[in-house]
Amino acid sequence: MCNGSCQNGCVESIDRYYNSIVQCLISASNSCIPVKKFRSKKHWWNDELDDLKNNLIAATTFWRSVGCPRSGAVNDNRLQWKYRYKLAIKQAERNANQAFNEELFEYFSAKDDDAFWQAWRKRYCSSSLKTTSNLNGKQGDVNVCNEFTEEFRTVFQTNTVNSDCIFEEEFLKLTELVSDDTSCPKIDIELCQRCIHKMKLNKSPGFDNVSTEHLLYGGGDLYVHLCLLFNTMVQHCYVPEKFGHGLIVPLLKDKQGNQSRSDMYRGVTLSPTIAKLFEYILMEFYGDQLSSDVRQFGFKKHSGCCHALFTFKETTKYFIKKGSKVYCAFIDASKAFDKVLHNGLFVKLLKRNVSVRFVYILRNWYSKLSASVIWNGVIGPVFPIHCGVRQGGILSPLLFSVYIDDLLNDLHNSGYGVYIGSLFAGVIAYADDICILSCSCYGLQKLLDICSAYGQKWDIRFNPVKSQLMTFGGSNPDNTTVYLDKKVVQWCTKVKYLGLYLIGGADFKIDLTAAKRKYYGCFNTIMSVVGNQVNEIMALHLVKSYCLPQLMYGCEIWPLNSVNIHEIDIIWNNGFRRIFNCCWRESVKPLQFYCRTLPISYLIGERQLLFYRRLLCSDNIVLRTLAGLVRFEMLGIAAKYDIKSIYFSTATVKNAVWSSFVNVVKF
Ligand SMILES: [Zn+2]
Repeated sequence: MCNGSCQNGCVESIDRYYNSIVQCLISASNSCIPVKKFRSKKHWWNDELDDLKNNLIAATTFWRSVGCPRSGAVNDNRLQWKYRYKLAIKQAERNANQAFNEELFEYFSAKDDDAFWQAWRKRYCSSSLKTTSNLNGKQGDVNVCNEFTEEFRTVFQTNTVNSDCIFEEEFLKLTELVSDDTSCPKIDIELCQRCIHKMKLNKSPGFDNVSTEHLLYGGGDLYVHLCLLFNTMVQHCYVPEKFGHGLIVPLLKDKQGNQSRSDMYRGVTLSPTIAKLFEYILMEFYGDQLSSDVRQFGFKKHSGCCHALFTFKETTKYFIKKGSKVYCAFIDASKAFDKVLHNGLFVKLLKRNVSVRFVYILRNWYSKLSASVIWNGVIGPVFPIHCGVRQGGILSPLLFSVYIDDLLNDLHNSGYGVYIGSLFAGVIAYADDICILSCSCYGLQKLLDICSAYGQKWDIRFNPVKSQLMTFGGSNPDNTTVYLDKKVVQWCTKVKYLGLYLIGGADFKIDLTAAKRKYYGCFNTIMSVVGNQVNEIMALHLVKSYCLPQLMYGCEIWPLNSVNIHEIDIIWNNGFRRIFNCCWRESVKPLQFYCRTLPISYLIGERQLLFYRRLLCSDNIVLRTLAGLVRFEMLGIAAKYDIKSIYFSTATVKNAVWSSFVNVVKF
């Protein structure tokens, strides 16, 4: 193949080459891998039950043919078959449960975590939900599928008609100015292999049915072909047509929600696996050109919700301590990912001097985006996608961060918003979740004006109705109105921010009611599922890995004095009592000791210390600065467990926390 110097001559052969690779993979797997059908429900069904069922049907048919008598030999015969059948079903189900519990316990004792969870998920996590046959009043799979298609078609249209056109012009002007990128990355087999190993297994394939397993077990020749294909693609700045097509699977947002309304669903896009691999490869070469502000905590290594929450908490606490109020705005951007303007994005990329070749590859790719909805096996019509970063794409989160990065810069450069020393902390972003902090309502308004202007220019629609305002260090102002996009934003006293419920007022407080409710729901489900025949140690394992995280979410930043730790401890201890069926007055501490499980207050202490320790050596200046502020608080917690220095290792903390627990256990 050529080195890309031709004028589009090779483009068709790239498509042909790609199609042949896909075809080979599919026919190879079809001829080598047996397809097994499995019963998702009633997996314990057996032939004996089939026989009984047939006998019952025969007896019932005969009984009907003689006029459905309520007594007599014919009726007795029918009832006998019925009872035997029902009994056999119950027995089979019970046996299966027993066998399942034993199997689980075997995996558990063998410390085979993968097998354990695989068995568990296969049994309980397969969706037992029946799909709806009625959506927005439309009946039947085909109509439902069409309804979804219309829904998603509107999602992938820009908020404002033609808003991307000006950026197309700007993009073309910019490309005249930049010199072509003559350097071309070389993709070798080793890189290809490395990237394949990064991909997750057991994922639904795209519309071409190629899965990660195909690539992983495809053999040495496959790598050679993939390398050839990718190298030509990079040289020509061209991706195969089929790279742009995604299958959208509508998924219910909330299992308890109304299934017959389309707004209760969100779409998950399945893209071709080879396209994903190509993205991983692009990421290797260009990923570090897509960096974003330190105040953006989403999609980064060693960064998560907790870090954004920590920044929020410590910033507000800093000002509360100084006697100042902090006014916060939690901004909701409607479907921001799906509304990114393609040319707008490319302009931003060129302006930040990202490799031109990379931008051209993306532009080629994004010009081919289309999707179709798949619903109950029915595939809807193909429709074009006009905006948004590619759903489910590996690069997409980074591209989105680039798209809103200038907003964070604008806010920073405005001079408004809070500063800790010389450090700007007036905005905290986690993906599209943006929180703005200011010590005055005037400053808050100025910052929101910047957001509105940015939204206007880049066609991001901020939703004033779903956005919220809150005050820390005092109560909400009585008669100050704050606007976003010329509409009034509501003052609130409780806001859900990144999964935690924050309560406004004099102090930084959080509300754990929802977390507790979730924990109980999850706990009861597990206890009812595993039933009475359960092994206690296994139930504990399940509760620890499934329920406890629900209760402890965000505990790294819980203000320990205001949250009633004692109450949380009791919740967890009672869970222990229920699993082990012990008396309510009995102390559970010895039991916890033998199960090598800490009481929740110790778990929280341990988590907080480990979290702080990582912050101290974070490469994020905001986190490091704020961590410095809580040094004494941290030392206080450490002292509780008899840890003298802040620079402890993970093992030190774990041992120290455990031994201080052992000291309080009374045998
Ligand atoms: Zn060529």
